[in-house]
Amino acid sequence: MSVQENYNKIKQDIQQAANKVGRDPEQIRIIAVTKYVSIETAQAAVAAGIRDIGENRDTGLLQKYEAIGKEVMWHFIGTLQTRKVKNIIDKVDYIHSLDRMSLAEEIEKRATKTVKCFVQVNASKELTKHGLDIEEVIPYIKELGQFRFIEVVGLMTMAENTDDELIIRQTFQRLKKLQLEVQALQLKHAPCTELSMGMSNDYHIAIEEGATFIRIGTSLVGKEF
Ligand SMILES: *Cc1c(COP(=O)(O)O)cnc(C)c1O
Repeated sequence: MSVQENYNKIKQDIQQAANKVGRDPEQIRIIAVTKYVSIETAQAAVAAGIRDIGENRDTGLLQKYEAIGKEVMWHFIGTLQTRKVKNIIDKVDYIHSLDRMSLAEEIEKRATKTVKCFVQVNASKELTKHGLDIEEVIPYIKELGQFRFIEVVGLMTMAENTDDELIIRQTFQRLKKLQLEVQALQLKHAPCTELSMGMSNDYHIAIEEGATFIRIGTSLVGKEF
Protein backbone atom coordinates (compact mmCIF):
# COMPACT_ATOMS: atom_id res chain seq x y z
CA MET A 1 0.00 0.00 0.00
CA SER A 2 1.13 3.55 -0.70
CA VAL A 3 1.69 6.11 2.04
CA GLN A 4 -1.45 7.86 0.80
CA GLU A 5 -3.53 4.68 1.20
CA ASN A 6 -2.07 4.02 4.64
CA TYR A 7 -2.79 7.60 5.65
CA ASN A 8 -6.39 7.37 4.47
CA LYS A 9 -6.90 4.14 6.39
CA ILE A 10 -5.41 5.58 9.58
CA LYS A 11 -7.66 8.64 9.29
CA GLN A 12 -10.67 6.30 9.01
CA ASP A 13 -9.50 4.34 12.04
CA ILE A 14 -9.12 7.57 14.01
CA GLN A 15 -12.64 8.57 13.13
CA GLN A 16 -13.97 5.19 14.18
CA ALA A 17 -12.07 5.09 17.49
CA ALA A 18 -13.03 8.69 18.27
CA ASN A 19 -16.70 8.08 17.47
CA LYS A 20 -16.72 5.05 19.72
CA VAL A 21 -15.99 7.22 22.75
CA GLY A 22 -17.64 10.45 21.60
CA ARG A 23 -14.44 12.37 20.84
CA ASP A 24 -13.89 14.86 18.03
CA PRO A 25 -11.48 13.22 15.55
CA GLU A 26 -10.09 16.66 14.72
CA GLN A 27 -8.48 16.67 18.18
CA ILE A 28 -6.12 13.87 17.21
CA ARG A 29 -2.94 14.63 15.30
CA ILE A 30 -0.91 12.04 13.46
CA ILE A 31 2.84 12.33 13.75
CA ALA A 32 4.51 10.43 10.92
CA VAL A 33 7.54 8.74 12.45
CA THR A 34 10.11 8.62 9.66
CA LYS A 35 13.08 7.11 11.50
CA TYR A 36 12.99 3.90 9.40
CA VAL A 37 12.50 5.53 6.00
CA SER A 38 14.28 7.66 3.42
CA ILE A 39 13.93 11.37 2.80
CA GLU A 40 11.89 10.53 -0.32
CA THR A 41 9.37 8.51 1.68
CA ALA A 42 9.11 11.29 4.24
CA GLN A 43 8.41 13.68 1.36
CA ALA A 44 5.72 11.29 0.09
CA ALA A 45 4.07 11.49 3.51
CA VAL A 46 4.04 15.27 3.29
CA ALA A 47 2.56 15.05 -0.21
CA ALA A 48 -0.14 12.76 1.19
CA GLY A 49 -1.15 15.45 3.66
CA ILE A 50 0.97 14.75 6.75
CA ARG A 51 1.69 17.92 8.73
CA ASP A 52 3.74 16.50 11.62
CA ILE A 53 6.99 14.53 11.43
CA GLY A 54 8.76 12.71 14.24
CA GLU A 55 12.37 11.53 14.43
CA ASN A 56 14.33 9.97 17.28
CA ARG A 57 17.87 10.93 16.24
CA ASP A 58 19.37 14.35 15.67
CA THR A 59 21.00 13.23 12.40
CA GLY A 60 17.74 11.87 10.96
CA LEU A 61 15.85 14.96 11.97
CA LEU A 62 18.40 17.31 10.44
CA GLN A 63 18.50 15.44 7.12
CA LYS A 64 14.75 15.46 6.75
CA TYR A 65 14.41 19.00 8.02
CA GLU A 66 16.84 20.17 5.36
CA ALA A 67 14.78 18.48 2.63
CA ILE A 68 11.31 19.40 3.90
CA GLY A 69 11.71 22.48 6.07
CA LYS A 70 9.09 24.52 7.85
CA GLU A 71 6.15 23.14 5.87
CA VAL A 72 5.53 20.67 8.72
CA MET A 73 5.85 20.58 12.50
CA TRP A 74 8.93 18.75 13.79
CA HIS A 75 8.77 16.42 16.76
CA PHE A 76 11.72 14.92 18.60
CA ILE A 77 10.39 11.64 20.00
CA GLY A 78 13.32 9.59 21.28
CA THR A 79 15.75 9.66 24.14
CA LEU A 80 17.50 13.00 23.80
CA GLN A 81 21.13 13.12 24.78
CA THR A 82 22.01 16.38 26.47
CA ARG A 83 24.87 17.10 24.08
CA LYS A 84 22.53 16.77 21.08
CA VAL A 85 20.14 19.47 22.23
CA LYS A 86 22.04 22.27 20.52
CA ASN A 87 21.78 20.49 17.14
CA ILE A 88 18.00 20.34 17.11
CA ILE A 89 16.72 23.07 19.38
CA ASP A 90 16.03 25.67 16.69
CA LYS A 91 14.43 23.07 14.36
CA VAL A 92 11.95 21.26 16.57
CA ASP A 93 8.46 22.40 17.48
CA TYR A 94 7.93 19.72 20.13
CA ILE A 95 10.18 17.54 22.30
CA HIS A 96 8.39 14.40 23.52
CA SER A 97 11.09 13.03 25.81
CA LEU A 98 11.73 15.40 28.67
CA ASP A 99 12.72 13.05 31.49
CA ARG A 100 15.43 14.58 33.67
CA MET A 101 16.60 17.85 35.17
CA SER A 102 19.89 17.98 33.25
CA LEU A 103 17.99 17.83 29.96
CA ALA A 104 15.66 20.65 31.04
CA GLU A 105 18.67 22.75 32.04
CA GLU A 106 20.31 22.22 28.66
CA ILE A 107 17.10 23.10 26.79
CA GLU A 108 16.81 26.27 28.88
CA LYS A 109 20.42 27.16 28.11
CA ARG A 110 20.12 26.66 24.35
CA ALA A 111 16.58 27.84 23.60
CA THR A 112 15.76 31.33 22.39
CA LYS A 113 12.00 30.89 22.62
CA THR A 114 9.48 28.69 24.43
CA VAL A 115 9.90 24.98 23.69
CA LYS A 116 6.80 22.82 23.81
CA CYS A 117 7.72 19.71 25.79
CA PHE A 118 6.09 16.45 26.78
CA VAL A 119 7.28 14.83 29.97
CA GLN A 120 7.95 11.18 29.19
CA VAL A 121 6.41 8.79 31.68
CA ASN A 122 7.11 5.13 32.28
CA ALA A 123 3.42 4.38 32.65
CA SER A 124 3.73 0.73 31.65
CA LYS A 125 5.78 -0.13 34.74
CA GLU A 126 8.22 -2.05 32.56
CA LEU A 127 11.72 -1.83 33.94
CA THR A 128 13.30 -1.34 30.54
CA LYS A 129 11.30 1.67 29.40
CA HIS A 130 12.52 5.24 29.48
CA GLY A 131 10.73 8.01 31.25
CA LEU A 132 9.93 9.02 34.78
CA ASP A 133 8.06 6.77 37.16
CA ILE A 134 4.52 7.96 37.78
CA GLU A 135 5.28 9.16 41.34
CA GLU A 136 8.17 11.30 40.07
CA VAL A 137 6.17 13.22 37.49
CA ILE A 138 4.39 15.87 39.54
CA PRO A 139 7.44 16.88 41.63
CA TYR A 140 9.46 17.06 38.39
CA ILE A 141 6.89 19.22 36.62
CA LYS A 142 6.72 21.57 39.60
CA GLU A 143 10.49 22.00 39.47
CA LEU A 144 10.33 22.86 35.78
CA GLY A 145 8.57 26.10 36.78
CA GLN A 146 11.98 27.69 37.35
CA PHE A 147 12.72 27.71 33.61
CA ARG A 148 11.64 30.48 31.23
CA PHE A 149 11.63 28.46 28.03
CA ILE A 150 10.03 25.16 28.97
CA GLU A 151 6.31 24.68 28.55
CA VAL A 152 4.88 21.30 29.56
CA VAL A 153 2.20 20.88 26.90
CA GLY A 154 1.53 17.28 27.84
CA LEU A 155 2.65 13.80 28.83
CA MET A 156 4.08 11.08 26.62
CA THR A 157 4.33 7.34 27.07
CA MET A 158 5.03 4.11 25.22
CA ALA A 159 2.93 1.07 26.03
CA GLU A 160 4.38 -2.35 26.55
CA ASN A 161 4.94 -4.43 23.41
CA THR A 162 2.26 -7.04 24.05
CA ASP A 163 -0.88 -8.50 22.47
CA ASP A 164 -2.73 -8.02 25.73
CA GLU A 165 -5.04 -5.07 25.02
CA LEU A 166 -5.94 -4.67 28.67
CA ILE A 167 -2.33 -4.09 29.71
CA ILE A 168 -1.92 -1.48 26.95
CA ARG A 169 -5.20 0.21 27.87
CA GLN A 170 -4.26 0.40 31.56
CA THR A 171 -0.99 2.10 30.65
CA PHE A 172 -2.82 4.77 28.66
CA GLN A 173 -5.39 5.17 31.43
CA ARG A 174 -2.60 5.82 33.94
CA LEU A 175 -1.24 8.58 31.72
CA LYS A 176 -4.68 10.17 31.37
CA LYS A 177 -5.22 10.11 35.13
CA LEU A 178 -1.83 11.73 35.67
CA GLN A 179 -2.65 14.40 33.08
CA LEU A 180 -5.78 15.35 35.05
CA GLU A 181 -3.70 15.58 38.24
CA VAL A 182 -1.22 17.91 36.55
CA GLN A 183 -4.00 20.04 35.08
CA ALA A 184 -5.60 20.37 38.53
CA LEU A 185 -2.41 22.08 39.76
CA GLN A 186 -3.07 24.92 37.28
CA LEU A 187 0.61 25.62 36.79
CA LYS A 188 1.28 28.41 34.30
CA HIS A 189 4.21 26.58 32.72
CA ALA A 190 2.34 23.25 32.52
CA PRO A 191 -1.07 23.46 30.85
CA CYS A 192 -0.68 19.75 30.03
CA THR A 193 -3.52 19.69 27.51
CA GLU A 194 -1.94 16.99 25.29
CA LEU A 195 -1.31 13.26 25.50
CA SER A 196 1.28 11.73 23.17
CA MET A 197 0.50 8.01 23.11
CA GLY A 198 -0.25 5.29 20.59
CA MET A 199 1.93 3.78 17.86
CA SER A 200 1.29 1.50 14.87
CA ASN A 201 -0.04 -1.40 16.92
CA ASP A 202 -2.02 0.39 19.60
CA TYR A 203 -3.17 3.78 18.35
CA HIS A 204 -6.85 2.82 18.31
CA ILE A 205 -6.66 2.03 22.04
CA ALA A 206 -4.73 5.25 22.70
CA ILE A 207 -7.41 7.31 20.96
CA GLU A 208 -10.15 5.69 23.03
CA GLU A 209 -8.18 6.61 26.14
CA GLY A 210 -7.59 10.25 25.20
CA ALA A 211 -4.51 10.57 22.96
CA THR A 212 -4.18 13.90 21.15
CA PHE A 213 -0.96 13.00 19.31
CA ILE A 214 -0.39 9.51 17.95
CA ARG A 215 3.10 8.62 16.70
CA ILE A 216 2.93 6.27 13.75
CA GLY A 217 5.85 4.82 11.84
CA THR A 218 5.56 1.38 10.31
CA SER A 219 1.86 1.31 9.44
CA LEU A 220 1.99 4.75 7.83
CA VAL A 221 5.33 5.07 6.03
CA GLY A 222 6.60 1.48 6.28
CA LYS A 223 10.05 0.32 7.26
CA GLU A 224 12.90 0.56 4.73
CA PHE A 225 15.88 0.16 7.04
C1 LIG B 1 9.62 4.37 16.48
C2 LIG B 1 8.73 5.07 17.40
C3 LIG B 1 7.37 5.20 17.14
C4 LIG B 1 6.69 4.59 15.92
O1 LIG B 1 6.70 3.20 16.01
P1 LIG B 1 5.84 2.27 15.01
O2 LIG B 1 5.56 1.06 15.81
O3 LIG B 1 6.71 2.02 13.82
O4 LIG B 1 4.60 3.00 14.66
C5 LIG B 1 6.61 5.92 18.04
N1 LIG B 1 7.14 6.49 19.13
C6 LIG B 1 8.46 6.38 19.43
C7 LIG B 1 8.98 7.02 20.66
C8 LIG B 1 9.29 5.66 18.57
O5 LIG B 1 10.60 5.56 18.88
